[in-house]
Amino acid sequence: MDLRNAGVTNTQVLSAIERIPREEFVEDSFLDQAYANQALPIACGQTISQPLVVGLMTQALELHDRHKVLEVGTGSGYQAAVLSRFSRRVYTIERHQDLLEEAERRFESLRLRNITTLYGDGYKGWAAQAPFDRILVTAAARIVPRELVEQLSENGGVMILPVGDLAGADQEVLRVRKEGKNFTTERLFPVRFVPLVQGMPGGQRN
Ligand code: SAH
Repeated sequence: MDLRNAGVTNTQVLSAIERIPREEFVEDSFLDQAYANQALPIACGQTISQPLVVGLMTQALELHDRHKVLEVGTGSGYQAAVLSRFSRRVYTIERHQDLLEEAERRFESLRLRNITTLYGDGYKGWAAQAPFDRILVTAAARIVPRELVEQLSENGGVMILPVGDLAGADQEVLRVRKEGKNFTTERLFPVRFVPLVQGMPGGQRN
């Protein structure tokens, strides 16, 4: 009800959020807050997004069940799990191996079989699987990454991403729509995300 009142009106999005048990994605010490409408810390200094933000960003994607979707920033896996309930296939990239392995275990135990994972630098997207009908970035970039726009479908592709100050103070969610080689950008709402970091931990490149 809170999400509905705050503007998540798409019933498919609401029912996907209802059906994914968020308690499976939070750390044991935050179990009592699993259903509070707030972001929570996860391993590697990262966060699982606030349910309202998951709802609004998922809704803004205008998903269709035949869509091929890319998520950048797997984190706990919660957002990917929500996406998996109503898209054909979800590809998700994470640059912290520990987080990715934990997320993979959750997908397995919840039997979410249409999620494919990659350990790598999502700033560069996933060229081998492109183009994507939808791209959702769940970490903030300073600017819209060119590689991601390139990997978006030329046939009405939509990307949702937070852009702005990496310290978290002045970020907003943008919607990029692509038709042919052209794209337009629209500003949606303010947010606070952890930064989209270029390259791999320890300076290793993938
Ligand atoms: N979608 C997540 C929220 C993740 S927080 C969830 O539902 O829990 C953002 C995540 O993006 C972090 O796990 C961080 O490690 C990851 N990240 C940051 N930069 C990245 C990059 N260049 N490539 C892949 N993942 C990245």
